Amino acid sequence: MIKFTSDELKVVKKIEVLKNEAGSHSPSFFTFKQKLPEVDIKVDACFLSNPYATDLFIEYFNKEILHTGNIRDLLESYPSQNGVIAEILADFLKIDSGNIFIGNGAIEIIQAVIHNFTKRKIIITIPTFSSYYEYVKDGVEVVYYNLSKNNNYNLDVEEYIAFVKQNKPDTIVLINPNNPNGGYTKAADVQRIIEELSFVDNIIIDESFIHFAYESESYQLVSLSHLVKEHPNVIVLKSMSKDFGIAGVRAGYGVMRKEYVDLLLKNGYLWNSNGFAEYFFRLYTRADFALRYDKVRVKYIVETLEFIQELRQLPNIKVYPSMANFVLIELLEGIKSTEFVAKLLISYGIYVRTCDDKIGLKGQFIRLASRSKDENDYVIQSIKACIQMNDVLKLVNETVV
Ligand SMILES: *Cc1c(COP(=O)(O)O)cnc(C)c1O
Repeated sequence: MIKFTSDELKVVKKIEVLKNEAGSHSPSFFTFKQKLPEVDIKVDACFLSNPYATDLFIEYFNKEILHTGNIRDLLESYPSQNGVIAEILADFLKIDSGNIFIGNGAIEIIQAVIHNFTKRKIIITIPTFSSYYEYVKDGVEVVYYNLSKNNNYNLDVEEYIAFVKQNKPDTIVLINPNNPNGGYTKAADVQRIIEELSFVDNIIIDESFIHFAYESESYQLVSLSHLVKEHPNVIVLKSMSKDFGIAGVRAGYGVMRKEYVDLLLKNGYLWNSNGFAEYFFRLYTRADFALRYDKVRVKYIVETLEFIQELRQLPNIKVYPSMANFVLIELLEGIKSTEFVAKLLISYGIYVRTCDDKIGLKGQFIRLASRSKDENDYVIQSIKACIQMNDVLKLVNETVV
């Protein structure tokens, strides 16, 4: 139980309205700033991006685009066509350009793939990123595969394979690491899934958080996009928003069989990128940027590990295992997620996502992103204070009764 003043309660109501208006996604930072001027947001722990990568992008952007006046070209000219940007990525990714489809954010590719290639039945593991089931067209059957709370919402590979064989869908979706819990399935296990389920027409693997995951002590990146060549039913999706900290640019790509890319391009998507996204994609493939990006990637992974470690020390919450840059937290001892989130926002200016709208989660959950080291320290202190407040109030209540 968390206590609010009457002024605070008014803000709590407003937050609820904003959340309802945003549907299954969180209201943006801008919406909050505009509609809740009385709340001073200090830390956006809702958005799942690497802040150091954003800093790096801004550094390059200022030097090469703003300060040189090249911004004019970016605004005045058309960007390159989809296939041309695919060619820029091809060498870097070591994948044929014909297999690469560029999206205005990965969400556009999710929509394109599900609308065009899912004909009959899709299996979606829950909890998940909501677009996967929201974009399913009428007439397509959606079957949910529940990640088990007892297994900390990690994927049970054998059970999953059996489930898919039994249900015979034409499309399955694996987000790795998964959103909203950060659970990671090792590359060897995903490969096993792919080999066992060769009858499935579309195996979508969403690697939007893959730059935060690792399987060795050197934190080396483990992507499976090269498997598309051998397994034409595999579709690997990649958002650049989170690990490169550039959600506002809208950049993502998909690796899929050539017929799919051709089919999509036949129906549109010619100039679906913008000049900023093209600049980003060109930067992404440059050796100087790649080298520096990898440094901020590893720095952020290490700090996130420390952050998660500290969260685990706090009482009355359960921190689920994560290989992403966020954690799913279950609130115990009667703490309500809506109240907890409102308190963090109103009293500490920390914006966190409740997960009470996520299907497949049973209990009071929030999802908390790792930010810069200073911000993470502040978040830990604030959460500690909220938990203590809950304890004190509980004690007072019990004594009164
Ligand atoms: C954020 C997210 C996306 C969409 O990313 P954009 O590139 O910003 O459209 C896709 N998949 C998952 C799992 C995500 O979390």
